[in-house]
Amino acid sequence: MKNFYDITIIGSGLTGLTTALNLAKAGKSVAIIEKDAYTGGQIQTYTENGFTYETGPNTAVISNYEVIDLFNQLPTCEVEIAKESAKKRLIFKNGSLYPLPSGLVSAITTPLFSLKDKINVLFEPIRDKGTNPDESVAGIAARRLGQSFVDYAVDPFISGIYAGDPTKLVTRYALPKLYNLEQTYGSFIKGAIGKARLPKTEQDKLVSKKVFSAKNGLSQLTDAIVTELKTRYSKTVTFYLNAQDATITPLNQNQWETSFIQNGVRTTVESEFIIPTTGGYTYISLMPFISKERLKPISDLIYAGVIQVSVGIRNGATYSVNAFGSLMPGKEKRNVLGILYPSDCFENRAGVDDLLLSVFMGGTKNPLLFNKNDQEIENLVRKELFDIMNIPQSIHFDLFKITRHEKAIPQYLADSKERFELIGQLEAEYPGLIIGGNIHQGIGMPDRIKQAYLISKRIIASKEV
Ligand SMILES: Cc1cc2nc3c(=O)[nH]c(=O)nc-3n(C[C@H](O)[C@H](O)[C@H](O)COP(=O)(O)OP(=O)(O)OC[C@H]3O[C@@H](n4cnc5c(N)ncnc54)[C@H](O)[C@@H]3O)c2cc1C
Repeated sequence: MKNFYDITIIGSGLTGLTTALNLAKAGKSVAIIEKDAYTGGQIQTYTENGFTYETGPNTAVISNYEVIDLFNQLPTCEVEIAKESAKKRLIFKNGSLYPLPSGLVSAITTPLFSLKDKINVLFEPIRDKGTNPDESVAGIAARRLGQSFVDYAVDPFISGIYAGDPTKLVTRYALPKLYNLEQTYGSFIKGAIGKARLPKTEQDKLVSKKVFSAKNGLSQLTDAIVTELKTRYSKTVTFYLNAQDATITPLNQNQWETSFIQNGVRTTVESEFIIPTTGGYTYISLMPFISKERLKPISDLIYAGVIQVSVGIRNGATYSVNAFGSLMPGKEKRNVLGILYPSDCFENRAGVDDLLLSVFMGGTKNPLLFNKNDQEIENLVRKELFDIMNIPQSIHFDLFKITRHEKAIPQYLADSKERFELIGQLEAEYPGLIIGGNIHQGIGMPDRIKQAYLISKRIIASKEV
C-alpha cells in the first residue's frame, strides 16, 4: 500500500507535532510516523492518586515568541505561568539550601561564592574577551567570574539543563546566547545591559522569560496539537502510530519513500519532504542509504541518561521550601542532580496540603545509578530527601514513580561542529531532507518549538518561488 503526502515527519514529539501543525495550517498534507503507540515523545504527564506529575520535562522559560504563538493556536490548552515562588532557586552547600542571589544585597551576602570572586565580578566588564572558540562552559565562567561561580552556580545550572559536565560542554554550542554575549559585547554584564536596552518588537515583548508549563501538565500541550491535527486537519494529516523499523529512501524527482511495519503489515508512504525529528542513535537504521561511517558524527552523539522520580506526599506541604527547585553542585557529591517542586509552582498538581517533587538523578557524571534497581533508587531518594529537605526517611509516599531515560539529553560537546556540518551537507545533497530534533538547534522545549517554526517556514517559502 502506498500513500502520498507533501511531507513525512518521523517522530511525534514536540518538534514533530509543532512542525506538522504549522504545515497543516499552510495547507500541506502530512504523514506522522511514530514508533510508539502514543504521541508526545519525551513529554508525558500522568495523574494518579491525586497527583499530576511529569515523567519528562516539567517546565521551561519563555525564551522565544514561538512558545506563546503555539499556545495561542490551540483552543484546548492554556499556558500556565509558574507562581512567584518559582523565581526562587536554591543551591545546596555544606548541608544547607541557599537561594541563588537575585539582587545586589543577596549577591554580596550569599555564602555560595568566595569573597575574592565577588570582588572579581566587579571587574568582569573590563576583562578580555575569550579567543578559544571551543572553550567549555566551565572555562568561560571561571575566566570571567571565578571558580566558586563555576562550582556553585554554573555546575548546578548545567546539571539542571543538560544533566551534563560543564568542563566538557562547549559554550558556543551548548549555551550559544551566553557565548554571543561575550563575543558581541565583550562581557556578560555589559551584554545583559546592552540587550535590555535594545528596542523591542511586538514578538520580543512576548519573550517574558517567565517559567511556564501547560495548565494540568505538559501533555495538555502535545495532546492539544494532536486534537487540532485530528479534527481541523483530519483530511490532510495522518498519524501512523506503532510504526516499527522505519527506513527512509530517496527516490527520483525529489521524492522520498518511508517504509515501516504497522500491525505486522509493511506500509510505505511517499512525500516530497522528509523530516526526521529523532535522536542521533536512530540514524543508522533510519537512513540506510548513507554509510555508517559517514553518519558517525550524528549516530555517535553522546546522551546523558536521567532517572526521574516523582514523589507525592499527602499532607507533605509542611516540608515545602516554596521555590522552583534546588540544585546540587557536583562538589557536594550528592546522589541527586536536583529536585523540582511542581506543587509549589503550578495549580492542581497536588492537593493544597500535599507535596509533589520531581527528583532528577544520574547525568553524565553519575551514569552508574542506572545499575540500581527500584528499591535501591527509593532508598537513595529517601536519604537525599532527608539530607536536603529534612523529610523523615520513614515517611509514607503516596506517589513514587521511577522513569529511566537512558538517552535523555544530547550533549553539545566539541564534536558538535562535525555534526552540525554533516547535517548541512546532507540537507544540501538530498533535496527535501530537513533534519529536525534536538541533535541540533537546542535541547529545550522552546528550542524545539522554534526549530519546528523554522522548518515549516522553510518548506512553505520553498514552494512560494
Ligand atoms: C527527563 C527529561 C527532563 C527534561 N526536562 C526538560 C525541562 O525541564 N525543560 C525543557 O525545556 N526540556 C526538558 N527536556 C527536554 C525536552 O523534553 C525535549 O526538548 C523535547 O521534549 C524533545 O522533543 P522532540 O520532539 O525533539 O523529541 P522527542 O520528544 O524525543 O520525540 C521524538 C519522537 O520520535 C519517536 N521516534 C524515535 N525513533 C523513531 C523511529 N525510528 N521511528 C519512528 N518514531 C521514532 C519517539 O518515540 C518520539 O515520540 C527534558 C527531557 C528529559 C528526557
